[in-house]
This record gives sequence, structure tokens and C-alpha cells, in this order.
Amino acid sequence: MAELRLANPLDLAAVRAQFPGLNQQVNGMPLAYLDNAATTQMPLAVQEAMRHFEQHDRANIHRGMHALSQRATDDFERARQALERFVGAGPGHELVFTSGTTDALNLVAGGLSSPGTVPAWIRPGDEIIVSGLEHHANLVPWQQAARRCGAVLRILLPDGQGRLHAEDLARLLTPRTRIFAVTACANATGERPPYEVLLALAADAGALTVLDAAQAVGHEVPQLSALACDLMAFSGHKMLGPMGIGALVGRREALDRLVPLRFGGDMVEWVGWDEARFNDLPSRLEGGTPNVGAAVGLAAAAAFIGEVGREAIDAHVRALRAKAAAGLAAIEGVTVLAPNSSASAIVSFAAAGVHPHDIGTLLDEQGIAVRTGHHCAQPLLDHLGLGSTTRASFALYNTFDEVERLRIGVERALKLLR
Ligand code: PMP
Repeated sequence: MAELRLANPLDLAAVRAQFPGLNQQVNGMPLAYLDNAATTQMPLAVQEAMRHFEQHDRANIHRGMHALSQRATDDFERARQALERFVGAGPGHELVFTSGTTDALNLVAGGLSSPGTVPAWIRPGDEIIVSGLEHHANLVPWQQAARRCGAVLRILLPDGQGRLHAEDLARLLTPRTRIFAVTACANATGERPPYEVLLALAADAGALTVLDAAQAVGHEVPQLSALACDLMAFSGHKMLGPMGIGALVGRREALDRLVPLRFGGDMVEWVGWDEARFNDLPSRLEGGTPNVGAAVGLAAAAAFIGEVGREAIDAHVRALRAKAAAGLAAIEGVTVLAPNSSASAIVSFAAAGVHPHDIGTLLDEQGIAVRTGHHCAQPLLDHLGLGSTTRASFALYNTFDEVERLRIGVERALKLLR
């Protein structure tokens, strides 16, 4: 695997110095943090940006006449602009802060299916197509939306290796298709679907297109302006940022179709006893006091990724995934999911006759943090004929030595458990 090391231009020592939490012992062994698909660690630069905001500029935003409120508002709006640039938003796009991907996708599915001043976008008999690779956060809200509107939910099922195919989507699309929702990377398997092609196909058929970018923003960073994508969701804590912040970013006309789900302060322009008029975007969808410090931190995380270099990060995590997948697949009785995926940071595997929780526990004893279970994608793992799996996921700070420790750790665990 020496060639993978050569392909890696990251200065890992310098990168890891930004994440002091990585430099600790767990169960007497150096920590190998391989649970980045759940939550990444946060660099000092992000922590410092948030500390600066909380110490100097903390105040509620918008319409405060005093200096701190103005500074907080400026910080918040600067963060919004920085994140718009980060995801390649153009002049016709708008970014709405949310608490994360789940919140953003609920806003989309709820906002398109709830009654408001205009009829809901989804009507009885309409069809919603959701890919079969989705996290529950991009499936359950659509189940609810379909039920609320009397629409039909159709699933774009993956093949036996967990891949999505454009021909299958073409067969599902009809003049009644109103929505197509797909992930940029399946968190449970590490499959990176050809979402560019799928979104374009669905958009051509007249569907509103939704991309769950939660597992891509840490390295691949889908660029909105280059995609036939109406709405895209992501979370801060999966891209080196804080928890409790994320965004829904998309075409203004698509965001305008969303009925607000949170009514109250900040999202209204005028209020009478019996009715209210709502603000324009983005405030219309940001009712209540936002997590300003976290927005500042998220923008700092985007800047950090930009400084290290997206291409370098992407190449690094892909190489880690490739090495891990090859090493694990070579262990007897181990099945690596999405074996052909070459553009993700996630490797998920099942071991015949062994429960993933036992593997996870034995790895933890060796200081290796992985995730086990159904990864909030129960129907997908059922469809692939698997129960739960063990998942290792990589970020820019992981090393090839950690991947090797994972392989050896799994081998040892399986010997003990079989
Ligand atoms: N979608 C995908 C693909 C995910 O991996 C996750 C988190 N595991 C989510 C959505 C939900 O993200 P959050 O918990 O940050 O809302």
C-alpha cells in the first residue's frame, strides 16, 4: 500500500496538531478515531472562532441597535455568505441555517406537504421518489409527507452491491413525480451514487430535487451551481464544525415553496391579532434565536477545509477507504459493503457469524473507535440481506497506520469471537 502513501500530499503531523483530542489513550492504547461519519473532531481554529464570538460579540442578532448586536448580526451573515461560497451557491441560491441535516430535510418534506397560504407542493396522487440508500432522516420525513398529502412514495432500490442506476430511476419517473431525494453518499455502506446524473434525470422529468450532502461535505463538497439540485442539506458536525448547526441551501424558488414550520420571532414582517405576514428568505425559515456561535464555527470549519485543500482531503480519505476495504475484504468471512465505491470515506462490513457489537467492543478495547448497528438505514441493510454492520469512517487526520490497526484489530476480534 506504499503507493497510497505517496498519493497523499497532506502534512498529517500539522493537521493532527490542530486536533489535540486525537492525541489521547483509550483503554491504554493510542486512540484511533474512525467514527467520523457519525461526528468528526473539531480543530482548534474552529474552537477559537467560537470562543472569540462568545467572548466578544455574543448578543442576539437582527434589529438590535447596540454594537454587540450589530457585530453578532455581521458575524452570522458573514458565516452564511462563507458557507454559500463553500457549497458553490450562485446568485439564485439562498442558505438557511438549521440545526443539522435532519432538521433541514424535515423542513423540506414538511414545508412541501403542509397547508399554508398556497396549496402544498405535493398533491394527492403525486409521486415522491426516494433512493434506497438513504439515512432515515431522508426517508421518514417523506413517508410522513406522502401520508399527509395522499401521495405515493416510491423507492429507487439499489442492486445487490448497493449501487443506484439511472435506468432504474428513468423507469420510476412519471409525469406525477413531484420530488426526487437522494444522498451524496450512503452513510451505512459508503456507496457514492452517481447523484449528478440522477438529479439531472429527475429535474428533466419535472421533479423537485433534494440532495442529502451530510456525508460528502467533509471532503467532496458538492457544488450546487454545477448540479440540477433544488435543495441540499448538510450538518456542521460531520465537516469539522460544531454540533447543532447545519444548513439547507438551494434555489430561491424552491425555498419559497416551503411553508415555514417554526412560527414566531424573527421570521415575521408584521403581526396582527389574527394573522401575520412573513419575512423574506432566509429569515422566513429561521424562526427564533439561531445558534450564532455555531454558525461562526461552521464557517471557520469550511475555511479550515479550504486551507487544507478539498482535493487533498478527498484524495486522502479515498485512499484510506481503499486500503481499509482491501484489507478487510481479505479477511476470511468478511463482506465489505459497496465494494466498488471509490469516492467515499466510509467502509462498512459484516463478518459471518459474529455480531458487530462484539467486534466494536473488542476494537474499543484496543483504542479503535468504530460504529456498529444499522446506522439509521434499516430498510437498506435489510434489502442487502444484512442485519447490522461494523463501520469505520475516515477524516483528513486519519493515518494509514490507523487503517492497519483496524485490519489487525478486526482479525484478532474475529479469532476471539469465532
Ligand atoms: N443523512 C446522512 C447521510 C447522515 O449520515 C446523517 C447522520 N448520520 C444524517 C442525514 C443526519 O444528520 P444529523 O444527525 O446531523 O441531523
